[in-house]
Amino acid sequence: MLRTPSAAAGLGLLMVLAGVPAAVAAPPLNGAAAVDGARIIHADRHPGEWLTYGRTYGAQRFSPLAQINERNVGRLGLAWHYDIGGERRVQESTPLVAGGVMYLTTAWSRVVALNAATGKRLWVFHPHVPRSADAHGCCGVANRGVAIWRGRVYVGTYDGRLIALNARTGKPLWSVRTAEYAKGYTITGAPIVVKGRVIIGNGGGEFGTRGYVTAYDARTGREDWRFYTVPGRPGVPDHAASDGVLARIARPTWHGAYWKFGGGGNVWDSMAYDPKLDLLYIGTGNGAPWNGAVRSPGANLFITSILALRPETGQYVWHFQEVPGDVWDYDADQQMILADLNLHGRVRRVLMQAPKDGIFYVLDRATGRFLCGKPYTPINWARGLSRRGRPIENRKAFYDLTGKPALAMPGAAGGHNWQPMSYDPQTGLVYLAVSGMAFTYAGARRVRMRELGWDTGDDFIALPQNPKAVAQIRKRLTGYLLAWNPVTERAAWRVPLGAPWNGGVVSTAGGLVFEGDAMGRFAAYRATDGKRLWSVQTHTGIVAPPITYEVGGQQYVAVEIGWGGAFALAAGQLALDSQINEGNVPRMLVFRLGGAEAMPPPPPRPQLTLAPPASTASAAAIALGERKYQSFCSVCHGDSAVSGGVLPDLRYAPAVADSRLWRRIVHGGALESGGMVSFARELTPREIEAIRDYVIFRANQTKGQRATRPY
Ligand code: CA
Repeated sequence: MLRTPSAAAGLGLLMVLAGVPAAVAAPPLNGAAAVDGARIIHADRHPGEWLTYGRTYGAQRFSPLAQINERNVGRLGLAWHYDIGGERRVQESTPLVAGGVMYLTTAWSRVVALNAATGKRLWVFHPHVPRSADAHGCCGVANRGVAIWRGRVYVGTYDGRLIALNARTGKPLWSVRTAEYAKGYTITGAPIVVKGRVIIGNGGGEFGTRGYVTAYDARTGREDWRFYTVPGRPGVPDHAASDGVLARIARPTWHGAYWKFGGGGNVWDSMAYDPKLDLLYIGTGNGAPWNGAVRSPGANLFITSILALRPETGQYVWHFQEVPGDVWDYDADQQMILADLNLHGRVRRVLMQAPKDGIFYVLDRATGRFLCGKPYTPINWARGLSRRGRPIENRKAFYDLTGKPALAMPGAAGGHNWQPMSYDPQTGLVYLAVSGMAFTYAGARRVRMRELGWDTGDDFIALPQNPKAVAQIRKRLTGYLLAWNPVTERAAWRVPLGAPWNGGVVSTAGGLVFEGDAMGRFAAYRATDGKRLWSVQTHTGIVAPPITYEVGGQQYVAVEIGWGGAFALAAGQLALDSQINEGNVPRMLVFRLGGAEAMPPPPPRPQLTLAPPASTASAAAIALGERKYQSFCSVCHGDSAVSGGVLPDLRYAPAVADSRLWRRIVHGGALESGGMVSFARELTPREIEAIRDYVIFRANQTKGQRATRPY
């Protein structure tokens, strides 16, 4: 027993004698042990680390590191890369770095610990999320990152568990089920730890769920409090922190049998914390179902809102609702940045958000009072905001149960989505990925809650049957990096990126803004004017946000690559033809000045043959197939049977030529181990065959018009 420590001490002595400090030979694996509230609050004293999702509790994603700057960024090169492996699914992680170790997450909620200087793998934790969970979420099996606290790493898994890992070994210490995936709940967001509590929300606003956020004791996993964001069935208390405020404020804004549809308001993305005010901020999602005519008249609090809660009790302090009675899937879950801004001669403690609804909001974060807000992208759902921040609605963008379509801007993917933005206190600008988007919404005439498929109360058939709307939407498709001045409420500059759905952003004291884009380019821009100073082609679409950190006196910039997410999966014919990625190979890429590693080349392009059987089905069968395809298949395999390059494009699938094989997959669940579940609970064999008829029709249409789109 006595030998081991003395042998270790002897080794340490040898290393010192040989002139090799032990700390350089191997990063101290206990760096995560030092992470607590004080260390996160004083993150600027440890500028080389990245200790919480938004780097600081205020989520500015601005790094004080300046070794890489506008003068030398041209010498940036690849230091190392790590192949994530597995199938080619979306990667959205913000890696954390503590004590020279990088903790990243991947698709399917895996956690990987790497030596942050070399990329050497230290451990991998695989939570073994059931593949069938894929079909119970909206936007791909993404995960945005972990939280670290006192030697532990916390991850929320896609199937609804919150797991604490030993940061040194990756071994699980405790696991709790915080949401039921079979009921439509999934977790993609990173947890946040405040005052010894791990706080985690969940998604599911497209699946008839009721949103909530829960706090667990970081040490034991014991549930501390839960806050529901929308009311449940009247007269049935939840015995939760939200009971009082829901009864008092929220419940009177709901009518009818709303609870049967879940209500939504899911807290699926980032949170922020102000230690001085002791307020935890959460953003809530769309109402469920989207179609307000089904859900309930009224404002439906607290959907599409920002709420301030007490982190120790979950007690409500204030709320601000952005889209009362939302019908367009305008989640307000997007990043909230806390900063001090000089607004009209007065320094205000503000909270800033650029949610999906297209408006950049600035609130007083002590009171929730609206200070200012302007559209950062063209919108038509509101004609502007009142002095108190309430939208002046445009009835033309509304739809109901009649099936009459309405075109709204932004579309359901949002003018800006979860891709993190960055506030640079040196320039006073907020940098974010903006997508020019529109969508045609139409209320479904019949609504029933389903076990599989989206429950939005919307009919996704409205678009393909309206070629003019498709053309209008495609014409509006843009994507750019925007520098927004939150004080003057104007764009300082824009850099067009060629396509929508681009990556998250980090800015640095080196005067740089880093962003990856949908076309696979990773670039550094000058913070003051957007001039592109450096870029590299990674051959894979990028949506994840870069981070920067320092180990051993060397600054690194890291970004996870891997294409996917809501727009990539569902947009289909609405995406640009150019938005087809060369290979979609998921990787962690890490750069430094003078880095000399070669960028891995793209894999050989898959040779897809379009060889459908002749389209002989009746027009009625094809029409039935189209309705069912748009309702059940389009959200993963792409609008109008055009895949966005993440999941298989069915027009090219061999099974389309083989009726029995098609049925074995769609009805019998033959590919369930890959995530393609059986739809026997929702679709009859006749409907499944009709979907095949429709895909054959679309494949033939494509074959006949290779050069042009069918519309
Ligand atoms: Ca949503």
